[in-house]
Amino acid sequence: MAADDQSTLPRRKFLGRASALAGLVVSFAPGMRLIDLADAKPDDEAASAEVRWGMLVDATRCVSGCEACVNACATEHGIEMTDRPEIDAQWIRKVDLIDEDSGREISLPVMCQHCEDAPCVAVCPTGASFRREDGIVLVNKHTCIGCRYCMMACPYMARSFIHINLVGQRTHSPRGKGTVESCTFCVHRVDRDREPACVEACTEAGHQALLFGDLSDNEGELAKRLGEVQSQQLRSDLGTNPGVHYHGL
Ligand code: SF4
Ligand code: SF4
Repeated sequence: MAADDQSTLPRRKFLGRASALAGLVVSFAPGMRLIDLADAKPDDEAASAEVRWGMLVDATRCVSGCEACVNACATEHGIEMTDRPEIDAQWIRKVDLIDEDSGREISLPVMCQHCEDAPCVAVCPTGASFRREDGIVLVNKHTCIGCRYCMMACPYMARSFIHINLVGQRTHSPRGKGTVESCTFCVHRVDRDREPACVEACTEAGHQALLFGDLSDNEGELAKRLGEVQSQQLRSDLGTNPGVHYHGL
């Protein structure tokens, strides 16, 4: 079932490599508000540690072969695909798993996990990789020197190096040849009370496999869901405490 830009790996093999993805099942009501707007900040306010943005990926709702989230991300951030997939930027990728014992097939998106204790931040020699107070991990294009230490340090293979001259850049998501980048949780949207593009696209496609919100808001939809269902963080053994949680792995 391997689509061109998907990875189809036996479950155990995948878990051993990207290692233990960790996860959950959630029932999303149609039309549900996926972001608690009260948590989004005004433009002139710094990100607050009172918020921790995160996501719940429901692998039981994610559809193998669906690329709605991947395509929405590329469109939102002006990411062009070339005829050399090995050098293409990929902020979010679909991964297909097969449980070798039961034959159960699982499909899920993997993106920057917005780790609390982020190895990319720890190894960056210039401070270009940084974590906002609200948990969103970003790269400062102006101070990134393209050394790619962060790419090697990231256990989730979530970062890409920009090899090519860029066209079609979006003003809300500037990129730079020779720098490293990864999922921003669509911070430009989140700061304006909007969901990440992947979440919106998944909902519009009718799958509702992605739920975005404030992990620290016990009254928020995300925290409530996490309290109701079993979930896992990928490679929780590493102690990175990702902001992205998975259900149904
Ligand atoms: Fe950094 Fe990788 Fe964690 Fe994202 S997933 S915060 S790039 S270590
Ligand atoms: Fe930091 Fe850029 Fe080097 Fe990554 S590639 S470690 S962001 S300077």
